[in-house]
Amino acid sequence: MLIEAVLGDITTQDVDVVVNAANSSLLGGGGVDGAIHAAAGPRLLDACRELRRTTLPGGLPVGDAVATPGFGLPARWVVHTVGPNRHRGQTDPVLLSSCFARPLELAVGLGASSVAFPAVSAGVYGWAVEDVARVAVGTVRVWQEGTEAGWSPGHPRPHGIELVRFVLFSATALDAFRAELDRA
Ligand code: ADP
Repeated sequence: MLIEAVLGDITTQDVDVVVNAANSSLLGGGGVDGAIHAAAGPRLLDACRELRRTTLPGGLPVGDAVATPGFGLPARWVVHTVGPNRHRGQTDPVLLSSCFARPLELAVGLGASSVAFPAVSAGVYGWAVEDVARVAVGTVRVWQEGTEAGWSPGHPRPHGIELVRFVLFSATALDAFRAELDRA
């Protein structure tokens, strides 16, 4: 499984799953969320409203994730996750870690082979991008080790994920993620 970091716009990524840094309401916001909704088109908001009406009447809890189709995006699915908000005192890295682990679990269930993540919580939710990079890369690596334990090369990977791509919106964020990826 390749784990990489690139500079770019997550809405244009040609991957199976794009992860959205949403808020609990699932009803739209700024940053990545606004960009994903704009690119996916209004059916994405309809799908999120339907989730609120049915399975998630109280909204999506922090650290959890839920999938919808990608509609107008190149990606087949959007997996929405809610990062911890530092401005509300949500400083537990376990919650942030969950925002990277849960979407991977959902992606496996969807049969995806590639997943793109933004720097969840590094924008409006106020986490330092270096902290997000450390938690994100560490979580993906631990998830990979756990799911591939006993896996032998030449056999299909047990989880089916071939690519995890972090898509960063600034050179500073890219540097932070590359530094973590370069750490052995
Ligand atoms: P949060 O509310 O979880 O902090 P934000 O959307 O405010 O989420 O920001 C998360 C990160 O995503 C920030 O580093 C921001 O610069 C970045 N970002 C914003 N738009 C995009 C985009 N179109 N593609 C990739 N990253 C983006």
